[in-house]
Amino acid sequence: MKILVINAGSSSLKYQLIDMEREEVLAKGGCERIGIEGGKLNHKAHGETFTIEKDLPDHTVAISLVLSELTDPRAGVIASMDEIDAVGHRVVASGETFTETVLVTDETMKRLEPLSELAPLHNPAAILGINACRAVMPSKKMALVFDTSFHATMPAYAYLYGIDYDDYKKYKVRKYGFHGTSHKFVSRAAADYLGKDPKDLKIITCHLGNGSSISAVDGGKCIDTSMGFTPLAGVPMGTRSGDIDCAAVEFLCRKKGMTMEEGMNYLNKKCGMLGVSGVSSDFRDLTAAAEAGNERARLALEMFSYACKKYIGAYMAALGGLDCIVFTAGVGENTPSVRAAALSGMEAFGIKVDPAANEYKNDGAIHEISAADSNVRILVIPTNEELVIARETAALL
Ligand code: ADP
Repeated sequence: MKILVINAGSSSLKYQLIDMEREEVLAKGGCERIGIEGGKLNHKAHGETFTIEKDLPDHTVAISLVLSELTDPRAGVIASMDEIDAVGHRVVASGETFTETVLVTDETMKRLEPLSELAPLHNPAAILGINACRAVMPSKKMALVFDTSFHATMPAYAYLYGIDYDDYKKYKVRKYGFHGTSHKFVSRAAADYLGKDPKDLKIITCHLGNGSSISAVDGGKCIDTSMGFTPLAGVPMGTRSGDIDCAAVEFLCRKKGMTMEEGMNYLNKKCGMLGVSGVSSDFRDLTAAAEAGNERARLALEMFSYACKKYIGAYMAALGGLDCIVFTAGVGENTPSVRAAALSGMEAFGIKVDPAANEYKNDGAIHEISAADSNVRILVIPTNEELVIARETAALL
């Protein structure tokens, strides 16, 4: 079975064609600058990158180009579109409407529409991608795989905010969480690695990238997560502030003469690591600057690790114990100093990092970085969100 995974943004479209028998990526790539002049497709297959520069006025043209590359005699990996058994679409927000992966039908698309309000930057783009695929491949079975659905198992006391309950009911303002496919993938992979049933494990998964979130997974189910109604909440991130007193936002807006919209843009794009360090949102730049003696870069990194540590401590309490901590995503997989700092001083809770093991060179494999006498196993697992989308799509069929 071959599944095409699509992740559509407002001006981009990433894809992977995955052979499910061997869970192998046959080809992958992305279109850039859709709807903007200077469109481009980068397609990787047979160990080569094929680039096509061509205006892509809309998502339908982009997906048509992807399909022609996938079936191209030289760059392609399939003889015809018939070899694609189904398409899995990444969708960010499921709201309370969907708690699991569903088939694309007129009815599910109708129910998806109002959820754009919950993720205005992401869901409308996904809908563009889905509609484009439906136009180009009308008979193909397709699935909606949501970033939020892994978090649908959170109990109400964990996802509710302390606001008027009627407002929660009316406006659905609550914690939803994000990066669900990644938390799901690495928590299952951790159970496999440890040779245990996910049902028997309490795991904290730390997806630390440009956007970061931390989840508590009990018996294979998410019971809490650090992102909230939007991806702005939780630990400070590349450019997002993370948790902040709402009254401070109102105060800042007043002082800086920002509208609420400008205030949200400020909190999402100009804060976090970038804002605190004044150097960069990229952890490679921050680590280099801190090593060269930049005090604000050091402070930003310290804030980040401290926030991760606090979430880990809180989730140990929420889980009532802990078997395993997993680090994943760009920073989690590549920045030993952040992992070490986030877990420093936690020996009293049975968490002990092996400093030498922590300094491994990232080779895309799973690495265990806990000391031999650590009660809690500590793993670094490369995430694979596309594979989760493909697996969910295949399972639905
Ligand atoms: P996104 O949230 O955009 O998917 P990623 O998971 O790709 O983000 O993470 C981006 C962050 O990971 C950046 O801050 C970058 O510095 C860091 N990162 C990515 N790759 C590496 C690497 N090879 N070495 C060090 N840091 C890396």
